[in-house]
Amino acid sequence: MLEVLRQVIQEVNSARDLSRALDIIVDRVQSVMGTEVCSVYLLDDDRNKYVFMATRGLNPDVVGKVTLDLDEGLVGYVGERAEPVNLKDAQKHPRNRYVAEIGEEKYHSFLGVPIIHYRKVLGVLVVQQKKARRFDDSEEAFLITLSAQLAGVIAHARATGSLLLAESENIPSSSFEGMSGATGVAIGTVAVIFPKARLDNVPVRKAKSIRKEIRLFEDAVEVTRDEIRTTSGKLSDRLRPEELGLFEAYLRMLDDSAISGEVVARIEKGEWAQSALSAVVLEHVAMFDAMEDDYLRERGADIRDLGTRVLARLQSSDTRKVKFPKDTILVSEELAPADLAVVPRDRLAGFVSVKGSGSSHVAILAEAMSVPTIMGVENLPVQLIDGKPIIIDGFQGSLITHPSKAQLSYYRKVAREEAMLVEGLEELKDKRCVTPDGHRTRLWVNTGLMTDVARSLDRGAEGVGLYRTEVHFMMNDAFPTEEEQRIIYREHLKAFSPKMVTMRTLDIGGDKALPYFPIEEENPFLGWRGIRVTLDHPEIFIAQIRAMIRANEGIDAHLRIMLPMVSSIAEVDEAIRLIDKCYQEVIEEGTRVKKPDVGVMIEVPAAVFQARDIAKRVDFLSVGSNDLVQYMLAVDRNNSRVSELYQEFHPSILQALKQVVDCAHSEKKGVGICGEMAGNPSGALLLMAMGYDVLSMNSTNLLMVKKALTTIELSKAKKILNMALKMDDAFQIKEYVDDQMIKAGLGQIVRSRRK
Ligand code: PEP
Ligand code: MG
Repeated sequence: MLEVLRQVIQEVNSARDLSRALDIIVDRVQSVMGTEVCSVYLLDDDRNKYVFMATRGLNPDVVGKVTLDLDEGLVGYVGERAEPVNLKDAQKHPRNRYVAEIGEEKYHSFLGVPIIHYRKVLGVLVVQQKKARRFDDSEEAFLITLSAQLAGVIAHARATGSLLLAESENIPSSSFEGMSGATGVAIGTVAVIFPKARLDNVPVRKAKSIRKEIRLFEDAVEVTRDEIRTTSGKLSDRLRPEELGLFEAYLRMLDDSAISGEVVARIEKGEWAQSALSAVVLEHVAMFDAMEDDYLRERGADIRDLGTRVLARLQSSDTRKVKFPKDTILVSEELAPADLAVVPRDRLAGFVSVKGSGSSHVAILAEAMSVPTIMGVENLPVQLIDGKPIIIDGFQGSLITHPSKAQLSYYRKVAREEAMLVEGLEELKDKRCVTPDGHRTRLWVNTGLMTDVARSLDRGAEGVGLYRTEVHFMMNDAFPTEEEQRIIYREHLKAFSPKMVTMRTLDIGGDKALPYFPIEEENPFLGWRGIRVTLDHPEIFIAQIRAMIRANEGIDAHLRIMLPMVSSIAEVDEAIRLIDKCYQEVIEEGTRVKKPDVGVMIEVPAAVFQARDIAKRVDFLSVGSNDLVQYMLAVDRNNSRVSELYQEFHPSILQALKQVVDCAHSEKKGVGICGEMAGNPSGALLLMAMGYDVLSMNSTNLLMVKKALTTIELSKAKKILNMALKMDDAFQIKEYVDDQMIKAGLGQIVRSRRK
């Protein structure tokens, strides 16, 4: 059964549009299960009806035409129950209803299974037979398993299908749901960036010059042929003739009559060489993958390999300079921090990443840049939207391709209102953050990119609560030397002096990779990360600490060194020992600098419970709520599938946050928070009420938080906190706090946050 399932899914996956995908499904299910009928009904959200979308055995002429109400017939019954319905004789069932045009009068046995994607019923898959009999357990299990796997494919094909229509005259708009990575609205044109030499990721583009594309393709094929001949020649005395035959087969595949001919035909229809090649190769690969014979299936892998070689050639010989359109919305399967710098700032309007979530590091950096960003748009057919007009809504986390005039004008209005809100907050820049009843909270910023510095100062930052030093390491192509680091840290300290600057030691691992120091792990967020890496590599740690301390010479900024991912006292002791040693060395070398403060990030649950022991040893604590939430709730911060479960307002999180403040204060140590929760005005309100001395956030959110904390009294905030701490559900807490903010006149600020 596994083998059959694999084949069907493979074939469906390779279908280029929804109707083809559905046809493959009904065709294969009918023949594999040996049933007389197999049909698919899909939900049409706009019309609120099931549409008869594909069939084998019933009347094909009414496909796409016949619809059923949501509560109509057995199909409606399966959808309502969201579970399989297996009937010996459907005709005797009270919910049975004939639709004359479909022609199902003759059939008695009925098995319908829902197609469910992320808790939503997308449609119903039905098999029927004339003879009255119950489908047996193995048949039911097969259909359920198939349907569960098909749900994602159908959701994707549906999205792709609507975009394929977009090539026609009347271009309809399509909406896609993801989640907010950074707030704001952007209207612009898509530019897809894609990893090189990956057949599955090539965007479909029109050829600017057909002749030129053909020439580029033919040159790439020629070079690949030469490569194959050379390799074959080198190996001729070491391989047996039948093995050498493989090279011959490769060369034949590149003949005009085979793959090359098909590619050229596609280019002649107006497609650029890269996507023409990938489409042809992938079609062939899918055909081979679906074959039963192991030997033939392996030939699919050969074709993929060959296609990848030609693609790599094609891409390396394509020296055309990429010109980004005005208002570029950069779209990628998986946006990485280094991609954020690809488009010049004056041409950049937004980012979209198919993978990742709102708490991914790349989203945090995008927010710091104030660039509207959408993450986790799982169903977005990236290959089909290059060069297309698009709107992204960074508040709701959604995007619209080919927006209509009405949608454009709506979003222009939202963007104007947002700009006015931001402008209106400017006057708070130089004011201190004091509540109407006199409580002062320090609002600091998180930095990483050099551009953050000017923006932060411009928004009235009172200090730096988290300088993510790893960002610089990620942009480099080798570990920066102590001296290189010293220069960069010095610039940071100089810009903020005499304010406090909190430099975090290198926090790599998890979703932060260094290209020159790969860490391959099954479970990177639970693996070699943060302080674990640097204590294992004291030479890296020491160079960084020395650079930080030396950078402060003659500046006299208030330097604080902060340790990430601490999960035991032993790590704290060891790190302090190394920092003391570095300071001693630097002094002995004749550098006159003050001793830095040392602090620990509380971002692992174990550290919450040892917060008091840790506080005894260091000068300050700072909560990293981004990681604390992921580790406490066991929700990968990068995984869009579970992003709904990533809840900063979860009752357990609030308890933990309160506990950390109490522990730090009982040891008379300062405590701050530098996770994204501090930059959310509703979160900031609760944190202030808990007693946090410092809230450190993206400079983008600073004035909004200041507005909230200078509007609501501490006494009121404490009442809100007390109520929230009594509640047992994250959604309820969030709604309650937002509601209180709206009542205090902060509605616009609440609305301009993430959904
Ligand atoms: C955190 O975990 O909350 C934090 C501030 O660190 P980062 O987001 O860089 O992991
Ligand atoms: Mg962290």
